[in-house]
Amino acid sequence: MSVALNLDHAANAGRAAVPARRSLVGLGRPELRQTLMSIGLDDREAKMRSSQLWNWMYVNGVTDFERMTNIQKGFRQTLADKFLLDRPDIVTEQISIDGTRKWLFRFRDPQNPNLPPVEVETVYIPEEDRGTLCVSSQVGCTLTCSFCHTGTQKLVRNLTAGEILGQILMARERLGDFPGGQRPDDGGLVPAPRGSGGSEGDSRAITNVVMMGMGEPLYNYDNVKQALLIASDEAGISLSKRRITLSTSGVVPQIEPTGREIGVMLAISLHAVRDDLRDMLVPINKKWPLKELIQACRDYPGLSNARRITFEYVMLKDINDSDADARELVRLLAGIPAKINLIPFNPWPGTNYDCSSSARIERFADIVNNAGYASPVRTPRGRDIFAACGQLKSETERLKKVDREALSGA
Ligand code: SAH
Ligand code: SF4
Repeated sequence: MSVALNLDHAANAGRAAVPARRSLVGLGRPELRQTLMSIGLDDREAKMRSSQLWNWMYVNGVTDFERMTNIQKGFRQTLADKFLLDRPDIVTEQISIDGTRKWLFRFRDPQNPNLPPVEVETVYIPEEDRGTLCVSSQVGCTLTCSFCHTGTQKLVRNLTAGEILGQILMARERLGDFPGGQRPDDGGLVPAPRGSGGSEGDSRAITNVVMMGMGEPLYNYDNVKQALLIASDEAGISLSKRRITLSTSGVVPQIEPTGREIGVMLAISLHAVRDDLRDMLVPINKKWPLKELIQACRDYPGLSNARRITFEYVMLKDINDSDADARELVRLLAGIPAKINLIPFNPWPGTNYDCSSSARIERFADIVNNAGYASPVRTPRGRDIFAACGQLKSETERLKKVDREALSGA
């Protein structure tokens, strides 16, 4: 059972006119200062104003310059004339019986606002001790992992840093995470999810972020990096880097920079322990095979027993779930501080795969556990609203790349 709210409200619909103003969400601190200097502020004033704006945007979640009470009225108007504090439109918000929420967010292309907007899915998963937001990095995916629904959708485009952050900001707004925020009325179906993690006394709904929505984050590296550095900035949203996990299918050359420049936790979509099988399941393996991938993991900056790599392994019946596979998995990861996350396959319409039986998953987990690895089996969440891992896919067929190219005259 699920509840779906259609929130495509008039205010959003009325914004059809092309926004000539630039959004400030997603600009790094230096860019924000530069942008303010471009409208005539001197160095010192730009620095001060950008700190104020940062606080309003990321701590207070303000989207209206008028509410920025420590900025004089005249300058608030100048800012409003030139800039936006953009958030996505909410096309739908679905709430699962287990409290999981899934949003379909709509974004306009900032480079070319005349193009049709794009849509992505973002999922919130409340648990007893945490609340995790699963964020998308691309609309569709260039990769074609054979068990993944997103993989059946062509890449439409990369999301900008502002759009990646926009998902976090909008989810925080909807979950009442900004000061003075109220939880939305969901008819009392769902108990208020409250994470107790994060810094001492953190009672925010979103305590963790995982880049495990639509798309391959390391094929949109610069924007993902910028968004995650802003999300972890202590004077802003202030999510601990230990509570941000980036999942990759194995874009080997970007793994070292991820650790060095972003410093977040790493998850690898492994799913197979032999190259011939992984070539089929995760075709990027043909480019960067297991040997190179595992070496990149061994070299991941900051790796330690306290900062382990998560290896994701989807349980596919009679494909990758034998005792021999489990033993080979243990051998492959020997010496790497690792957690192994067994994900029951989530089916989607048209797939040829089945999920392994519970008994098979248990047996597989036992072998991995006995070798000393924590190997939690991920409980599928939000299945009734199609929000589980690998089920995300926007339905905006008209937005396929070919259509967009036709529209832009390419
Ligand atoms: N593109 C990135 C992140 C998004 S996918 C990546 O591949 O890592 C997040 C996780 O869900 C990945 O481990 C992915 O392999 C897994 N997944 C994809 N489809 C799935 C499905 N149908 N059932 C279970 N897990 C799936
Ligand atoms: Fe893309 Fe990840 Fe799905 Fe593979 S599993 S198709 S990389 S989203």
